[in-house]
Amino acid sequence: MSNDYSKMKFGTKAIHAGVEPDPTTGAIMTPIYQTSTFVQESPGVHKGYAYARGKNPTRAVLEKSIAALEDAKFGLCFSSGMGAMDAVIKMLRPGDEVITGNDLYGGSYRMFSKVFANFGIKFHYIDLTEASNINNYINANTKLIWIETPTNPTMQIVDIKACAEISKKHNLLLAVDNTFATPYLQNPLALGADIVMHSVTKYIGGHSDVIMGALVTNDEQIHAELAFIHNSCGATPGPMDSFLVLRGIKTLHLRMEKHCYNGEKIAHYLSNHPAIEKIYWPGFEDHPNYNIAKRQMRGFGGMISIVLKGKNLEQTFKTASSFQVISLAESLGGVESLVNHPATMTHASIPKQTREAAGVVDNMLRLSIGVEDVEDLLADLEEALKH
Ligand SMILES: *Cc1c(COP(=O)(O)O)cnc(C)c1O
Repeated sequence: MSNDYSKMKFGTKAIHAGVEPDPTTGAIMTPIYQTSTFVQESPGVHKGYAYARGKNPTRAVLEKSIAALEDAKFGLCFSSGMGAMDAVIKMLRPGDEVITGNDLYGGSYRMFSKVFANFGIKFHYIDLTEASNINNYINANTKLIWIETPTNPTMQIVDIKACAEISKKHNLLLAVDNTFATPYLQNPLALGADIVMHSVTKYIGGHSDVIMGALVTNDEQIHAELAFIHNSCGATPGPMDSFLVLRGIKTLHLRMEKHCYNGEKIAHYLSNHPAIEKIYWPGFEDHPNYNIAKRQMRGFGGMISIVLKGKNLEQTFKTASSFQVISLAESLGGVESLVNHPATMTHASIPKQTREAAGVVDNMLRLSIGVEDVEDLLADLEEALKH
């Protein structure tokens, strides 16, 4: 299979792009090069690999594969999604400012507000449902716009193209956390973003067995800067994890089709359910940014958040613990369906007032709809919602 993956369709790319038979044995699957170092003929003379923090052959194949999924020229894999984000923020200097959303993954908010704010980087957490709101926060120190869409957990949609127009006009960087949408549903680089970040832990890995992150870009200079930070700071994943993700990617398109199918069925079922006060899913025509979602995404995914009618924290915990098929756990994007209580689990690090202002109330549950048979998931929901 040639390296020219740009002409392939998504499913073919997921299976083939970046992956070549092993040159020494013909192994069709990339071997796990479980080694820290590589023998050199004489100092500096080697086969392109010197020390595995800088470059490992299993990871190198995965980086090509993930880049191909986003139609990007360059890819880097990190030991977690947070490690990937950390590298992007390390491109900044004290005094620089970042404009970001007010409905972020809890860990992203924690890293911005509790780690990088201490290094003199200022973050503005703003409503991004209207991209033009960004203009109100741009000043001479602004360097980066960091967006997440759909947002976690309230499934707001941010207009990537509109953000890219603003960032280009002011010579800023636009980075998009594309974890929820995946490259199957949305490609931010094609809409003008400079950097795309993934928590590979979620849909790309897809089997709840690996923690990993990735960054992709088309810009050689950005890539060089990120690669320098990657090697210097060292948040690099191991070859075994790289192998597991390479295996996961081969079914990404199949899994995403089923996540979308199940997600749609369940979202419509829940929207008519008497125990539900509010439901968040970008595929409803009355979702405030439905038209943007339709334009920039190829489907609406399997992430759904619900607010339980009239329930307090304790009663919400009871419902959350009543599922038989759906597991109560943090994380998302795996083959198995999960339910999560954002206020005390994924978003616990956000102060109560900030969290509730963003709609993350105590009686909210977030569902990551897996690829099980939808009838079993519907029956499980029906039963659990009685509690
Ligand atoms: C999970 C997640 C992250 C963090 O990724 P890790 O792999 O857990 O470090 C960042 N953004 C979003 C949207 C996530 O869901």
